[in-house]
Amino acid sequence: MKDLIYIAGPCAVESLDQIMSIGRAVKDVGATHLRFMLYKPRTNPGSFQGVGDEGLGWTGEVRENVGLPLVTEVLDTRDVRKLADYFDILQIGSRNSQNFALIKEVGNVARELGVGVILKRGASNTVDEWWGAYNYLEMDPVNPGEVYMCERGVRSATNPGPKGNILDLSAVPLLNTVCHNVIVDPSHGTGKSSLVERMSLAAVAAGADGLEIEVHTNPLKSKSDPYQAITPDEFGEVVRKCNIFRRAFEEAYRE
Ligand code: PEP
Ligand code: MN
Repeated sequence: MKDLIYIAGPCAVESLDQIMSIGRAVKDVGATHLRFMLYKPRTNPGSFQGVGDEGLGWTGEVRENVGLPLVTEVLDTRDVRKLADYFDILQIGSRNSQNFALIKEVGNVARELGVGVILKRGASNTVDEWWGAYNYLEMDPVNPGEVYMCERGVRSATNPGPKGNILDLSAVPLLNTVCHNVIVDPSHGTGKSSLVERMSLAAVAAGADGLEIEVHTNPLKSKSDPYQAITPDEFGEVVRKCNIFRRAFEEAYRE
């Protein structure tokens, strides 16, 4: 069984110093990829929208000093090729989960240039709809490369956190019948930092192949999603415990 992947980092890149220090801190405790989000899809236009293109110039220095592959969200079809020059994985966020023009363009570029993809589940998508969206990427079914489907919570009236989402971990075993790169985002999925560790463990127990987690050195100072970010130390504990759960999962399911 493959090792878990851990995509960690802030909700949004806020400055070169911020992404550099968070990058080093998460790498030290087991992150395998760094979130490097430049364009933020915010609910309200007055909210912080991300540093945008300015941050493209920071990727080289961060890559050199931190040494992790970089993940960014792409919001616009016109940006896909440009971002593929700077990033290892392009994320399609929940708001664009059925934006088929964007998904097809990301698929084309991923197949042509070998970049990875994360396709998040839309907050009101069924698992079938999400699988349909995945198929618009048209990746090689046998060897899709670094392409992940990411469960990030769906709308619920009984959500425990401020985001209005409930993490649907049943999506992991459901999808595992057709797809093995299913990862889980317990940060957006709960909206609450105190729930991230346990829901990460639950995700690994459900068979997830990795986690995407928001980490900030000073969570309450985050310019976006302050209530769901955990600290690098807390993230290190998540990694330690999830690796134990992964070994148990492997042993329990050994043929
Ligand atoms: C994110 O991961 O930065 C994000 C905005 O998540 P989602 O698309 O799941 O809301
Ligand atoms: Mn966020």
